[in-house]
Amino acid sequence: MLRAEWEVSIRGMVSSVSVMTDPAQNVLLGLNQAELHALVDDLGEPSYRASQLLEAVYRQRVESVDQILTLPQQLRSKLTGMGVSIGVAKIEKRFVSQDGTVRYLMGFSDGQSVETVWMPEGDGGETGDGSEVGESGNGRAWDRATICISSQVGCAVDCQFCLTALLGVKRNLTAGEIVGQVCAVLKDQKVSPPQDRINLVFMGMGEPFLNYDNFMKAVRLLVEEVGLAESRMTVSTAGIVSRIHDFGLEAVRPKLAISLNASNDEMRTRLMPLNRKWNLEKLMAAAREFPLRNRERITFEYVLLNGVNDSKEAANEVSELLRGMRAKVNLIALNPGPGIQFATPAEDRVAAFQQVLIRAGVPAYVRRPRGRDIFAACGQLKRTVEIATAPVP
Ligand code: SF4
Repeated sequence: MLRAEWEVSIRGMVSSVSVMTDPAQNVLLGLNQAELHALVDDLGEPSYRASQLLEAVYRQRVESVDQILTLPQQLRSKLTGMGVSIGVAKIEKRFVSQDGTVRYLMGFSDGQSVETVWMPEGDGGETGDGSEVGESGNGRAWDRATICISSQVGCAVDCQFCLTALLGVKRNLTAGEIVGQVCAVLKDQKVSPPQDRINLVFMGMGEPFLNYDNFMKAVRLLVEEVGLAESRMTVSTAGIVSRIHDFGLEAVRPKLAISLNASNDEMRTRLMPLNRKWNLEKLMAAAREFPLRNRERITFEYVLLNGVNDSKEAANEVSELLRGMRAKVNLIALNPGPGIQFATPAEDRVAAFQQVLIRAGVPAYVRRPRGRDIFAACGQLKRTVEIATAPVP
């Protein structure tokens, strides 16, 4: 096949499964088994080459076609000659926190970047959902780790307490760019699932349900090819109600978290303008109808803002909203940042809010802030270049 024809072929495959324009063309990362089979078929190669590509891209996490040593030299040269690359996210900077959290600035071929966070010992968000149970016996200083990944460059949702919102949305990430963040961090940290217990949270930059098809394709690749357990993944949505319905129908899916942050519509619309479109009545109806699996609970996340949504009355309203649901609440005291107009509540206010929920029978956990000193904590992700803090190589 001529080079030009082949390029059309691989681009066609990518665009046929992506709802957004794919800026990373001729890349292997993001292609699934069927697409790689079609690719090797187009090249006149035997079908086992597809398995070799899957193994190299997703399990060995090679960074260039030249490193796929299972392929004959002639085929590697052919692919590189055609401009084919793996398309792995490039780690442009690392910021290392005193608590071991690492915030990565990941760069893509079109010059855009997102942030991805590595948290040894997790972020506390897994507390109470069963995934923290057990010993890994991995002999490391940490027993489990959580990777927080981004789904869009920036975010359009405009939550008033979130640094990412200040960016606006630049574009969706492709499935390959979402998976590529995980592959890059696993490689950098020299860890591999399932031997190492890795949790994934889709809670970085962006609203995953506004990039739904790419997000879900990435989930399937992470489960089927990278080897991460869906039971160790959680996606957080600000409340895109139509997609909560779709998500409940998926055969393979992470657990669902809903970013609640307010106890009534007036408060929520002020903090999260999307509440005008999908108010609490619609959101809670979707949450109640969501088909939970055995022992699964919906997580509601609640960022506490001093004097705004952290009163005992608000806690009572939250417990009313969740009455009778299989749910838990993760409380997050606001992580401060430049340009954010709210303040962090004192610990006793956070504890008092938690106690109201617990007394009402709602499991409630306070998430430990991770990597605050490097702006890696929840709601703090913003392109590193725009934040004055020194990178640690
Ligand atoms: S909290 Fe999440 S959904 Fe809201 S603006 Fe920030 S990144 Fe977007």
